[in-house]
Amino acid sequence: MSDQQSELEQVAMFDAVIVGAGFAGMYMLHRLRGMGLSVRLFEAGGGVGGTWYWNRYPGARCDVESMQYSYQFSDELQQEWVWSERYAPQPEILRYANHVAARFDLRRDIQFDTRVYSAIFDEANDRWVLEVGDGERVTATYCVMATGCLSSANTPRFAGVDSFQGETYHTGHWPHEGADFSGKRVGIIGTGSSAIQSIPIIARQTAHLYVFQRTPNYTIPAHNVPLDPAYQAAVKADYAGIRARAKQTLPGLDFKFNTESALASSEEERQREFEARWAYGGIPFMGAFGDLLYDQAANDLAAEFVRGKIREIVHDPEVAEMLSPRNVIGCKRLCVDTGYWATYNRPNVTLIDVSDKPIEAITPAGIRARGREYAVDAIVFATGFDAMTGALVRIDIRGTGGQTLKEKWREGPKTYLGLGIAGFPNLFTITGPGSPSVLTNMLPSIEQHVEWVADCIGYLRESGLSRIEARAEAEESWVAHVREVAGGSLRSTCSSWYIGANVPGKPRIFMPYIGGFPAYVQKCNAVAAKGYEGFALA
Ligand code: FAD
Ligand code: NAP
Repeated sequence: MSDQQSELEQVAMFDAVIVGAGFAGMYMLHRLRGMGLSVRLFEAGGGVGGTWYWNRYPGARCDVESMQYSYQFSDELQQEWVWSERYAPQPEILRYANHVAARFDLRRDIQFDTRVYSAIFDEANDRWVLEVGDGERVTATYCVMATGCLSSANTPRFAGVDSFQGETYHTGHWPHEGADFSGKRVGIIGTGSSAIQSIPIIARQTAHLYVFQRTPNYTIPAHNVPLDPAYQAAVKADYAGIRARAKQTLPGLDFKFNTESALASSEEERQREFEARWAYGGIPFMGAFGDLLYDQAANDLAAEFVRGKIREIVHDPEVAEMLSPRNVIGCKRLCVDTGYWATYNRPNVTLIDVSDKPIEAITPAGIRARGREYAVDAIVFATGFDAMTGALVRIDIRGTGGQTLKEKWREGPKTYLGLGIAGFPNLFTITGPGSPSVLTNMLPSIEQHVEWVADCIGYLRESGLSRIEARAEAEESWVAHVREVAGGSLRSTCSSWYIGANVPGKPRIFMPYIGGFPAYVQKCNAVAAKGYEGFALA
């Protein structure tokens, strides 16, 4: 027996280890356990739910209708769960995650409050060795990273940030006990989805709210309402149909997508369609015409429509102008709001444009920008995430030859299908870079990945194999394809977190796969059907 082998036997051994107890990790655990594997899941947080465990800021809710932003793997589950609103608020989504954990008895194999610090491939034994929590070591044949695309908070290092004497919050790490802003002056930095959801509510609580905006964003009203039981019953009666139709659309969402060209339509037709979409609300606005994300002139028409709405709603023309985005609509994920633009009509809200002059510093008493200090009692960082790669490269992951993932991805993430990585055998990523992930309704994307990984592990076990690794050439050609497809869309034209532009020093590569859910699923299925083409099996 080698020294390494005897050392290995002293640590807990599993068939599979999963990192992260969001919707991805929870379902992965359920699937692998159902196949008879011994599994341990490690989660840094104190409970299940991932995104919905951490993002407890005021106004947090989904931007995909709850009837679709939910699991479909269990018909009993989707039939029995009752959503209360069109877009469920964060506490309800978290209750749903807890319900799923209880229903499928997941907690017995989850170790909470346990961060994974490293995952090192032991080539002699073909196993992953992970260091977790307070120095505990575990080993597993398979390692599934369900660490989330938007789970690694980004807090820019503003000069003087540590000197601030008041309270600070990040939307992605909101305290469980909440925040009491009554009678306080609050500064919020950022105007992405998190800010756009929270600003209207924080504004109602505070003495004064200062919004520091670097880039204005497009947002479409949610028109959120309590869910009519009759509507819910109708959806449940046709759930299989709705889920199947959703899988035929680019974003994995059952919604009306108009394939007509905006440019080929008359002015009257365009206005009618945009108005109908505005009245319907939310992300389906981008389905108004087929060419909005492919033709700049078509996109300009949709963008101008929204700018017109801003001018109608916001009383002060200068503020309306400051709030009006000039970049491509839909380039960043479209925001979905309740009362966002109208909030700027409140006397206790001030918008500060930091697009041409960055925030100068955080001082002990507030935020200094445009040559003036804004005194505040609390600062909310709504500054987003080190998206798609952040949670992964924060773990010391080492594959064959001791190569680190951080080093491999120095010039941008490289994966095969966003599922496997050359040089990292038996390591799977759920909704990894190179998959449609964040460009879709995430729940069906998560389920598709989990099922593909589970089937793959099942295939290996049935075939008496224990090792799978993406081939370098398959990975290269997939990465090239992902880039090529991205280049054909207007989405790659703006400074968004899709290309890593929000994190200083991060390589600028369009990370998600823009080719859409159906084409991607077809590719994944074809790879599996051909005996995992592009992977080396042993
Ligand atoms: P997560 O939910 O992010 O879970 C990952 C988990 O991994 C986290 O709990 C984290 O603590 C854990 N973890 C990470 N690293 C480690 C480590 N080293 N050790 C141990 N644990 C670790 N998508 C939609 O489609 N529709 C929406 O409406 C929508 N709304 C969103 C709202 C917000 C505020 C945010 C931030 C994202 C939203 N998303 C939405 C995207 C959302 O992230 C996904 O829908 C989905 O919840 C992701 O699930 P996940 O399990 O992949 O990752
Ligand atoms: P985000 O979209 O990345 O927004 C971060 C904001 O902070 C941006 O306005 C950004 O400006 C600003 N910012 C970052 N660094 C800054 C700096 N140094 N100085 C000034 N401003 C700075 O993050 P998010 O709002 O948390 O949303 C991230 C994603 O999570 C969304 O796109 C969406 O996919 C998901 N989400 C969904 C919902 C929902 O509606 N269900 C809610 C929240 C989040 P720039 O734009 O100039 O970089």
